[in-house]
Amino acid sequence: MNRTKRKRLLAIVRERLSAHYPEAKCALNYEGDPWRLLIMTRLSAQCTDARVNEICKELFAKYPDCEALANADVEDVARIIRPIGLFRMKAANIVDASREVLLRFGGRVPSSMDELLSLPGVGRKTANLIIGDIYEGPAVVCDTHFMTVFARLGMYPEKLRDADKIEKIMRDTDEFLDGAELCHRVVTFGREVCTARSPLCGSCPLSDICRHRLGKEAELDE
Ligand code: SF4
Repeated sequence: MNRTKRKRLLAIVRERLSAHYPEAKCALNYEGDPWRLLIMTRLSAQCTDARVNEICKELFAKYPDCEALANADVEDVARIIRPIGLFRMKAANIVDASREVLLRFGGRVPSSMDELLSLPGVGRKTANLIIGDIYEGPAVVCDTHFMTVFARLGMYPEKLRDADKIEKIMRDTDEFLDGAELCHRVVTFGREVCTARSPLCGSCPLSDICRHRLGKEAELDE
């Protein structure tokens, strides 16, 4: 699909999902705190957002801000977050990231992609989410739901699962310039309707524009 068609399709997706999901927000309860979003996103790898929200009640009760976690004992942090898996690596990452934010950025989570990517354990998905949700900048939050939904809609080959390549393709449309709202709607849609195993195509608001549903030859009208 070329850029023009991709842009046109995205405009339809934006309009319909905005109507379908008027509330578009991150499933992580970070209470508007950029540092908490950074930490919670790191913890959410291979774990549900609901579980991260639950674990972080105890974590943030004991370590409520960047400085507190920067000075934390990694073993104690690992004990608290143990139920979410990969807890030793994640504990080391979030303590290290807090130290870096404190020492290099005075406790303020940076706003540029390069600075965010320089923090321990922070990848493009986390960086995009922070830029979009906190700084309302261009954000393509390329998680597994995002990749599946837009592949099925025909934006790129369904077998393509390289998040960096997909981000580049989608960024080229200029449709993701104003924060992460569209991404949140797509993720919610992927969780509730266009699920990986059994998409609910019969009740899908995008079924008439979906290449997966209509067949590989289907294209939007010129
Ligand atoms: S029609 Fe089916 S495959 Fe296509 S976007 Fe909707 S739920 Fe997903």
